[in-house]
Amino acid sequence: AKAEGRSRTMFFESLMGETVRARFQLEAELRLAILEDQLRLYLQPQVNSSGVQVGAEALVRWQHPTRGLTLPGLFIPLAESSDLIISIDRWMLSAVCRLLAELDAEGSSIRLSVNISPRHFQQADFVSEIQHQLEASGADPSRLVLELTEGIVIGDIGDVIAKMTLLSTLGIHFSIDDFGTGYSSLAYIKRLPIHELKIDKSFIQDCTSDPNDAALVETILSIAKHLHFQVVAEGVETLGQSEFLNARGQIIHQGYLYGRPEPAAVWRARLSQSGAT
Ligand code: C2E
Ligand code: CA
Ligand code: CA
Ligand code: CA
Repeated sequence: AKAEGRSRTMFFESLMGETVRARFQLEAELRLAILEDQLRLYLQPQVNSSGVQVGAEALVRWQHPTRGLTLPGLFIPLAESSDLIISIDRWMLSAVCRLLAELDAEGSSIRLSVNISPRHFQQADFVSEIQHQLEASGADPSRLVLELTEGIVIGDIGDVIAKMTLLSTLGIHFSIDDFGTGYSSLAYIKRLPIHELKIDKSFIQDCTSDPNDAALVETILSIAKHLHFQVVAEGVETLGQSEFLNARGQIIHQGYLYGRPEPAAVWRARLSQSGAT
């Protein structure tokens, strides 16, 4: 039994060794990815209840030299445990601001949402960084939406309010992503200059079959209505889900039913074909 215990310990040690090594390798590759321009900007449409595309969410992809196109689920969690996430967010923000300026020049009034991780938001120079990105690109701040998760309120609430208020005065809008899944304090949410709530796809998934999920979605819609927030429903895949939402208000829809995330160039071509503005 003693020998067995030892071999088991060795097994786990080597397993952990592999994991640590794999993490180190992924981190090193990711650092290189940013330097060597392997990140890609993808966009997914957001449509209003009349089916008009009013915005799009920017989602990062990693064009890995050997593994191919890699989804954020495989590298964002690791990136979030270090300052790597700040470099990724900045790369995306800069790509989004440039795209916004180009769309603006074409007469489009579409808005673009970009994900900001808590570690990035907590940087002391976050406000001036955003200001700089807007000035450098010439993007209209009122077309930029920053998606924050409830996780940001874990930090210094005074600092969070100050940063958001400053950016709001520039015209930037804020959206609370994955609303209802995180550390949710309505007392805090109420104090922030928020424009929009995003209902997480886990609630939308079964809203037509599970009364609990239906009730949760309705509760979020009611909170949004009372606090005058716009609502985006994420992960809308079926007509049934879209009808459920349309019966309950003016909600912006995002999901495979309307379009998958696509490379920025493909998304743009489709946008000009549709004649949307
Ligand atoms: P998220 O912000 O909640 O983004 C929505 C995710 O749902 C995206 O996954 C999107 O592709 C997926 N999705 C959209 N419609 C549907 C649908 O109808 N059904 C299903 N099943 N899924 C749908 P994706 O692109 O894999 O991104 C995963 C997460 O990675 C994002 O979740 C976000 O938290 C993070 N992420 C992506 N890009 C960035 C970034 O530039 N910066 C940061 N900090 N995080 C990012
Ligand atoms: Ca998001
Ligand atoms: Ca989400
Ligand atoms: Ca999410």
